[in-house]
Order: sequence, then C-alpha cells, then structure tokens
Amino acid sequence: MSKNKSSESVKVVVRCRPMNEKERAAKFERVVSVDVKLGQIIVRNPREASASELPKIFTFDSVYDWNSKQIDLYDETFRPLVDSVLFGFNGTIFAYGQTGTGKTYTMEGVRNDPERRGVIPNSFEHIFTHISRSQNQQYLVRASYLEIYQEEIRDLLSKDQVRRLELREKPDTGVYVKDLLSFVTKSVQEIERVMNVGNQNRSVGSTNMNEHSSRSHAIFVITVECSELGVDGENHIRVGKLNLVDLAGSERQTKTGAKGERLKEATKINLSLSALGNVISALVDGRSSHIPYRDSKLTRLLQDSLGGNARTVMVANIGPASYNVEETLTTLRYSNRAKNIKNKPRINEDPKDALLRGFQEEIARLKEQLQKRSGKKKRRGQRRRAGEGSDSDDLEEGETEDDDEDGDYWREQQEKLEGERKAIMDDHSLVAEERVRLLKEKEKKMEDLRREREAGEMLAAKVKAMESKLLVGGKNIVDHTNEQQRMLELKRQEIAEQKRREREMQQQVESRDEETLELKETYSSLQQEVDIKTKKLKKLFAKLQAVKAEIHDIQEAHINDRQDLEQTQNELTRDLKLKHLIIENFIPLEEKNKIVNRAYFDDEDEYWKMKPITRIEDDHQMMTRPLSAVGYRRPLSHHARMAMMMRPDMRYKAENIIMLDMDLPARTTKEYQEPVIAPKVAAALEDALRDEDEIQVDASGFHSSLGPSPSTSASGSLKKPKSGRPRTGKKSSTPTSPFSPASPGSPLYPQSRGLVPK
Ligand code: ADP
Ligand code: MG
Repeated sequence: MSKNKSSESVKVVVRCRPMNEKERAAKFERVVSVDVKLGQIIVRNPREASASELPKIFTFDSVYDWNSKQIDLYDETFRPLVDSVLFGFNGTIFAYGQTGTGKTYTMEGVRNDPERRGVIPNSFEHIFTHISRSQNQQYLVRASYLEIYQEEIRDLLSKDQVRRLELREKPDTGVYVKDLLSFVTKSVQEIERVMNVGNQNRSVGSTNMNEHSSRSHAIFVITVECSELGVDGENHIRVGKLNLVDLAGSERQTKTGAKGERLKEATKINLSLSALGNVISALVDGRSSHIPYRDSKLTRLLQDSLGGNARTVMVANIGPASYNVEETLTTLRYSNRAKNIKNKPRINEDPKDALLRGFQEEIARLKEQLQKRSGKKKRRGQRRRAGEGSDSDDLEEGETEDDDEDGDYWREQQEKLEGERKAIMDDHSLVAEERVRLLKEKEKKMEDLRREREAGEMLAAKVKAMESKLLVGGKNIVDHTNEQQRMLELKRQEIAEQKRREREMQQQVESRDEETLELKETYSSLQQEVDIKTKKLKKLFAKLQAVKAEIHDIQEAHINDRQDLEQTQNELTRDLKLKHLIIENFIPLEEKNKIVNRAYFDDEDEYWKMKPITRIEDDHQMMTRPLSAVGYRRPLSHHARMAMMMRPDMRYKAENIIMLDMDLPARTTKEYQEPVIAPKVAAALEDALRDEDEIQVDASGFHSSLGPSPSTSASGSLKKPKSGRPRTGKKSSTPTSPFSPASPGSPLYPQSRGLVPK
C-alpha cells in the first residue's frame, strides 16, 4: 500500500440499544427510530404533542438499531479500520454516550459468548488470523491497557495500582505515557489474558464498578509491528497502533451542592469529555488556529486521532426511551459535529521506536554469540581428540549441525571425564595426595563443562523465546477449513461493502432529488406551476422550521452549558477567595514570599512544584555548614560565644537555655522571738544571777566549755552558758534585752541585793 496523504473524515456511527427490562416494565415510550437504509436517526420529542414540533433527523455514516449484531458492526465499520492498522496506520475507536447505553457492550461485549463479543475481542481474532495467513512477514503484537480517572493515568497492567503515570512528548514520536507497560502477545489467548488482568484491576479499588466505569476512560492499545522485505531488498517495518477507547458516560455530572473534594471530582470527571468536545468544535470550526489538545489528558493522548494522522471511528451509543431524550439529543449533536473532522491518515514506516527492529537485532546478536561458542567448542573438541590420539578421522562438522549433534557432543565429553575420574580412583599406584589433586582437577573440569553447557543452553533458550514472540504466518495456508472460513469472511465483507455503497447512494439520491426537482419540471399550466411551487414551498418551509428548531435547541444547550460553567466558576472562585483569605490572615508575608519565590510551574507535568531550598542556584546541593558552627548545634557568632563564656546571659544561651543552678527550698521555720519579760522581773533575775556570781561558785565546768581563755572569765563580766539556747545576731542588738552585756551597770534599776527580799 502506498502512502496515503489525502484527508478523510472521522467516521461516525450511531447505535441504539434495545429497551431494557425496566423500561419495558415501566412502559416507556420509544422516541428513537432508526432508518438503517438511509443512515438516519429520527428522534421525536415526547413532550409536545407531535404536531407543533417536527421530529429531529440526523444522518450518519451508518446507524445500527436494537437488532444489530456485534459481528455486523465489526464487519461493516470496524474491520476496515483494523485492516488499515495491520497495514501500518494508526487507528482509534471511541465509544461515546450516556452511561448504560452500551459503550462497554460495544467495546467488550459479553466475553464468553462468541455472538455477543465486542470490538476488542473481535479485533484480537482478526489480527491473529491475519498474521497466520500472511507470508514472508514477521509480526510483533503488544498490548497496553490504561485508565484515566479524574485526570490521572493508571496503568491497568501494572502490579502497582497506586502509581500514577505521566504524559511525555517527544518531537519525533509525539505524546506517549511514560513507563506504561506493554506485553508482547503471541496468540489470541495471551492477549485475552492481558485484557482480563486489566479488567480485574479496573474493578479493584472501586467500590461500585458501574459508577467507576461511568466516570473513567479506559483505553486498550494494541500495537502491531510488521517487518517485510521491501523492493529495495531491505527489511522495512510498519507500525500500526489501535486505540480502543471506552469513554466515561457523557451525561451531565451534577455539581449542585458539591463542595471541596466532591466539587473537584465533578469538575474533573468530565474535564476530558468537555475538552474532547472543545477539540472537536475547534477542529470543525475551521477558523480557530488553536486546538486545545493540551486541556486534558485524553485529548493529548488521542491528539493523533482527532485531526491527526490516524483513522478514527466514533460510535455514539444512545438509548431509545423517552426519559433519555435530552441526553440522546446531546449525544447526537455531539457526534454530528465530529463527522466533520478531517484526518490525514499516514502509514508509519520505519519509526524510530519500533520494538521489532530491536528484537531482530538482538536475535541476530545472540545467534552470532551462539555460533561463536559452538565454533570454539568444536575446535576444542578436535584438539582434545587429536591430543589423545583417539579417532582422528572424525573431522570438521558442518556449521549447520543441529541440537541432536550438540547433545551428543556434551554427553560424550561428560562420559569421558567420568571415565577418567574412575580410572584415577581405581589406580592404586598413585600416592593418595596425588590422587586427590587429580580428582579435584577433573571435578573442576566437569564443573566448567557443565557451566559452559548451561550458558550455551541459556543462550539458545533466549534466542528461542525471542523468536517465538515474532510471529510468522503462512504455515497452514492450505488448510481446507481455513480456506472455507476465509471465503465466508470475504463474502461477509463484500456484503458489508455493498450495504455501505447502497446507503451512500440512497443518501445521494435523496439530496439530489431536491436539487433537481426544479430542473426537471416543465409546467403545462400556470395552475400546475403554482401547485408544484406551493408544494415545494411547504417542503422548504418545513425544513426552515426544522433548522430554526435546531438553532433554538443548540442555543438552549449552549445556555445550559454556560450556566454550568458559570456555576463551576463561581464555586471555584469562592474556594480561591477562601484560600486567599487564609493566606492573607494567617501566613506571614515573609513566608508567603518565600513560597511564591520557590514555586514554579512544570510544563512537562503541568503541575506547580517547589524548588529545593538552596542559595546556590545552579548547583543543586545544599549549603555547607558555616565554619563557626563546628561543634555546635547551630551557627554562632564569635561575639555570642564570648558572651556565653563571660556572663550568664540568657541572650546567648542558644544551646542550653535551662538554668540548672540549685534553688534553695522555701523556709518553713520562723525567727526565734524570746518571751518578753517585765523589766522588774528581769532586773530581779539579773540581780539574783549576779549574786550567784559573787557567791563564788566554782564554775570551772562552764569555763572549759566556753573557751580556753581563763582571762575572759577572770574579767568578771557576765558570761552566761550559751549552749542550748540559739543566739542570733538580732538578739544582741535588742536594747531591751536584760542579758545584754551592755546592760550590767545600767542606772535604771536599783541594785538588788539577792533573792531574798529585805
Ligand atoms: P455503558 O458502558 O455505556 O455504561 P453497558 O455497555 O454497560 O453501558 O450497557 C448497559 C446494559 O445494556 C448492559 O447490560 C448491556 O448488556 C445492555 N446492552 C447495551 N447495548 C446492547 C445491545 N445493543 N444489545 C443488547 N444489550 C445491550
Ligand atoms: Mg461502561
């Protein structure tokens, strides 16, 4: 196939599902009728009594009613697309529509029922059958499965289901998902297993599978690489990628009353879908030079499929019942617009990221390595045999000798070594040490031999494994049943093609009819002309009314959309205001500025990030510790260190601000207050005591306890025994104290003459 540079439109088909049990039980009216022949969907408005409002008619590439079979859809609509993927085009199939209208049914269908299998399993069968029938071509098929939920990408085949992946862009290959796993598959069963694993992971982590799938987009990607000898004698690789997309439900997400997380969720869920709508509008508009692909993950990822170099089919799913009429009309309008997108499909020939090329090169390299090994082995074998003088006419074996020969060789070598070992064991003439040494040597040789053999086997196995992943066809092409089946398929395709052509012709006839009506007419009388023209006028008037109604509907839909957006904007503005308020009032200006200075927008990830705290701009290394901080917990100035040593000032106690000096306990006793004695009594006492002194009592006992100096006592002054009575300094200063040493010669008191009153 030659490179096709011409543009083609996105193909849009509509499928209406049957009424379900509930709808039938509730006796809902069916408002959708499907004209398969003409490719038209006719929707009546259930509210107004039909007279005033005409039914709405939409025309599509093809339409399918409730009786449509999965295989019909596949043969007519999807098979040509998958075929072109096998030729190296990129292809995309979208399923769009309200939740519960059959998107998943169309994409996956009922897994165990061959009749009701959807596009994805049917395409598996198609791809691998194609490969098995091919000749002189090598294929490599791999599959990935991902999900976009709330603008986060999850790899459904990864073990780590928590991890979120990022989108990256390369100038030569475009947008891709970084670190997305892809599995090379060799058969229908293998690729089915991949799909099942993905589906299981999809339902894990979501409490309500239906709700989750209606809010997330699932994309199954099959990449088919094909290598073929070109006319120039070189191998050429073509890579086709098939994206099978089960979109989130298109119904309006209710945002009323949602706050915080819930609001964020609601605004994010349909972000990808509304971005998809905007991209479609921009593409169809023709005037806008900017296509907002970057607004969402989905549109970025599928950029190629919308106005790019891929072939695209969009399946719009609708429900027939009256209560769904609004959503049905929205879906039909949406897909009606998508019809006008123009793509420029192009074959991807010899792309840089073809995995097949790497595989082929690796296999060639391994084979060469294997060959080298076997060459070495043979040479060694010969040398050994020659050295031992054994059978020397067994010479050069061809390089093409196969595994059998190989096995023989190893066995032979092993047996020989074994025999030699036995001989050593049995040879009693050898000294024990010598024998041990020889045995060890032999054992080592055997070990080496074994290891070499294992390495060789491993290499061979690796080559085999890699080769088995490369699929080649042409093996059972003469198979009779296969042939019959092929004929059948061919016939089915022919029929599908015929149907398609018929429909196109019908549509053309329909539109020409109106144009040529006038040209063909020749009027025999004025009255006839009036009649015919009146009829035509009526027809045109009806058309005008239909268009007017359509305009009105679209305006209404726009107003709704706008109100929705305005509401979202209001909520978000309110949220923003609250955050501003918090920042203004609770975050110091200095801190705020620091954060503002560190924050930057990462274009790659489309996310705000923080620069690391460092003053060395270009070097991403943290600042080193200042010299003054060596030995301290934190940097200290010289002054501070000196001050810390000199005085106990809190100001510089950065390291240890707790003072650990001992604190005296609070006092629990009182000062001693001696009893106040009346002067008279005191004087009497004084006198009495002095008399005792004069009576010359031997008080040597007292003196010895008071002090060594006898002169103090000899001075004749009063020395009362101090022991037993606490004396404080205070007491001595009390002027009233009768015991004060200053008091003896006081003139205030009469000198008493003894205890006995006169
Ligand atoms: P969606 O993925 O759009 O939310 P589903 O594919 O889960 O919707 O379809 C909802 C239900 O309708 C399923 O039980 C499915 O089997 C049934 N259904 C949808 N389309 C058809 C159809 N064309 N024929 C028969 N049953 C259908
Ligand atoms: Mg679904």
